Amino acid sequence: MRLSQMLFVTLREDPAEAEIPSHKLLLRAGYIRRIASGVYGYLPLMWRVLQKVSQIVREEMNATGAQEVLLPALQPSELWKESGRWDTYTQAEGIMFAFTDRQKREVSLGPTHEEVITAIARDMIRSYRQLPVHLYQIQTKFRDEIRPRFGLMRGREFIMKDGYSFHTNEESLKQTYADMDQAYRNMFRRCGLEFRPVEADSGAIGGSGSQEFMVLADAGEDEILFTEDGKYSANTEKAVSRPMEAEPSSFTQFEILETPNTPTIETLANFLKCSPTQIVKNVLYQAVYDNGMTVLVLVSIRGDQDVNEVKLTNELVKVGDRFGGKTLLALTVPDADAQQKWAAKPLPLGYISPALEDEYIAATKSVHPKFLRMVDQTAVELTHFVTGSNQSGYHTVGGNWGKEFAKPDLVVDVRKARPGNRAVHDPSQTLQSARGIEVGHIFQLGTKYSKAMGATYTNEQGEEKPFVMGCYGVGVSRLAQAAVEQNHDRDGIIWPVAIAPYHAIVVIPNISDADQIAAAEKLYADLNAAGVETLLDDRDERAGVKFKDAELVGIPYRVVTGRSLKDGKVEVVQRATKDSQEIPVDEVVSTLKQWIADATS
Ligand code: ATP
Ligand code: MG
Repeated sequence: MRLSQMLFVTLREDPAEAEIPSHKLLLRAGYIRRIASGVYGYLPLMWRVLQKVSQIVREEMNATGAQEVLLPALQPSELWKESGRWDTYTQAEGIMFAFTDRQKREVSLGPTHEEVITAIARDMIRSYRQLPVHLYQIQTKFRDEIRPRFGLMRGREFIMKDGYSFHTNEESLKQTYADMDQAYRNMFRRCGLEFRPVEADSGAIGGSGSQEFMVLADAGEDEILFTEDGKYSANTEKAVSRPMEAEPSSFTQFEILETPNTPTIETLANFLKCSPTQIVKNVLYQAVYDNGMTVLVLVSIRGDQDVNEVKLTNELVKVGDRFGGKTLLALTVPDADAQQKWAAKPLPLGYISPALEDEYIAATKSVHPKFLRMVDQTAVELTHFVTGSNQSGYHTVGGNWGKEFAKPDLVVDVRKARPGNRAVHDPSQTLQSARGIEVGHIFQLGTKYSKAMGATYTNEQGEEKPFVMGCYGVGVSRLAQAAVEQNHDRDGIIWPVAIAPYHAIVVIPNISDADQIAAAEKLYADLNAAGVETLLDDRDERAGVKFKDAELVGIPYRVVTGRSLKDGKVEVVQRATKDSQEIPVDEVVSTLKQWIADATS
């Protein structure tokens, strides 16, 4: 491609809309164009990158025996109602674009495809003889993200590879899951990324085991906790750890003490001169189940610890039966407005005790009359603890579970693991923290969707059985930007060779020099003919502008037909190292071919 003929516009200044380097660079170098919030046009250079990433993904998927398909983005609500996710996805997470068509049918734009694929399997797979089978697609997904940001990192329209496997048993699922683990490692390594597989929460998709693949970068939205020995790494949403030991309580007797102006753990610990580890903190949450039932949840946890809301959500889903709900539509710390809807009288905020009376709740048909009381593992072990008294300005000290306070019936682990905590597998290891960008996620779904949607096959004994399923996603467009986030410098992008839009750019410093033009034209033709994907910068611009643009755009190898031409040589500069060499013109093709082969092997 000739730059003089390409839609190629670079910007000198950082665009105001971008916060992180990769977003700024993709806009400045003319790769993407914002059309609306979280919606981008992929311009010619970007589309080539996306196709290269897709091709690597495709090759690794095909190598495992998975088959490529293309499913509709437009999906009927019936399937989502069968799986039970219509309400969660249109209301709770609100992430699905849904609307009514002219025939008054509800439809949506697919954020993911479990429902569609399960419907296909239900119709087409009858016998165990057809299993296992794994179908995948590379397709545009739609998600009405509440905070689209960072360009392609969190878009409302983006490209995903999603695959779904069907099995007769868990063992077969685990085999495919392990194959995907390996295929994903291969893909990300081939794309030139530094990444880390981590244990992950399964979220609204559901199921048992799941693992995410994180590209390590400071701008990552996820926090990863890991140990130096390499034996543990998890998303903080999922991470577990050993908390530090609680200090023995200095209080021996149960009594109520006046503690003026101590609504926080810090003010209270200072006032009583005690450790936060001796305090039981009681955090009030408001959960709304998918049947519309509001449940007030009181979580007692050790004063120095925080509640991990992902873990809490999972616990609430487990006990959903008690309230006639399957999933949660919302989990919030109720603010003054929210409290007005159910509080029978003003709450003793900041001074709440584990025994907060149910009379505080004005029950209705959709507000459960009792607090759901949970105690975290860290708080259940405390004795003679300090906690609220339900009276503003007062706390109790020296309290015990089973004595002054009834032990809540639910003992849970909803504690946030933190950097510096000791690891569960080896207390001599402490958790370290890093930021990551989630580029892939693999799940063992089990029978959640097949059971809900009645998707069965006939086994060897002639019995109808639900499919055992897995699903596997790669954020193709997010991955492309993550590569830039990990590979750039002050002057621009440094594409990993395997996913660069072009391998090389031939620059003519002076377009009124016939020799320079002739040499460049020949190199341009020879390189392309030899399979080295090459751009020609034949624009009527100053050499300095062309060099700057080549660096900004991040093409791995720059060939300059400049002064050394008179010695039969050209200058070849490597973008990553800025290392410059003079190479005889007739060795350029073979040299670049070798470099590319080395860089992509
Ligand atoms: P996140 O936690 O970042 O919102 P997710 O866990 O909801 O992502 P999955 O359902 O696991 O995402 O989707 C598979 C992959 O698709 C993710 O690993 C990610 O790389 C990509 N992805 C998800 N949401 C977006 C988005 N809004 N924009 C770009 N890529 C996305
Ligand atoms: Mg995910």
